[in-house]
Amino acid sequence: MNRQCALEDISDGRLYTENDMVKVDTGGCRDCAVTCCQGMDKTIILDPYDVHRLCLNLHCSFEQLLNGKIEINIVDGLMLPNIKMTQDTNCCSFLSKDNRCTIHQARPSVCRLFPLGRFWEDEEHFKYIVQKGQCHKSNLTKIKVKKWIEADNSDHYKNFLIDWHKYVCKMQKKIADIVSQPDFDSAAVKRCCMSTLQNFYMARYDSDEKFYQEFQNKIEEQFKK
Ligand code: SF4
Ligand code: SF4
Repeated sequence: MNRQCALEDISDGRLYTENDMVKVDTGGCRDCAVTCCQGMDKTIILDPYDVHRLCLNLHCSFEQLLNGKIEINIVDGLMLPNIKMTQDTNCCSFLSKDNRCTIHQARPSVCRLFPLGRFWEDEEHFKYIVQKGQCHKSNLTKIKVKKWIEADNSDHYKNFLIDWHKYVCKMQKKIADIVSQPDFDSAAVKRCCMSTLQNFYMARYDSDEKFYQEFQNKIEEQFKK
């Protein structure tokens, strides 16, 4: 997703590669009041792999997640799901009363990386940033980026991230073109949004292997259009 913001506003202003050392190791978040899992508004946007892992882990469908745990919002014209904050406490809907993440094994990419983040330089290339003012633990230690993202370091996953980012950029541009026309066709915008949700989020996959394979087939079909 292309969020328009200055690097310095959201980070220490530097871009990091996998071989750089970064001060983000939270030590398993021990002795922390979990201040990062509240007040996130709509910013924990879920990609299809996040939803696949949630559905597999919680034995539920995308539609069932929409019943309280996630919601759909518009991101630069395109409908995408994000984790919902609770109305009463403004905390993540997956945070327990004793401040534990109830989906730790299946938490979304944004949370797995945190307090690192991805910064897309163009449609196909990204680097890492250290998010500013988000993790309030005072004694973070240094770790190599490669080690911090260990679980997300497979070629399958990185290819998925790039293909998904290219697809989202393509759809957002397509929608921007449609709405820039006088008397634009709102049904065409709806079709872009619904086909994204139906093709990539509502589908069920039994395993990671099937996920990557089917995702690849779908994305190839989309790029042919
Ligand atoms: S604020 Fe930092 S240390 Fe605390 S739970 Fe969040 S990431 Fe972990
Ligand atoms: S999914 Fe887990 S780690 Fe992510 S914001 Fe919610 S409670 Fe925190």
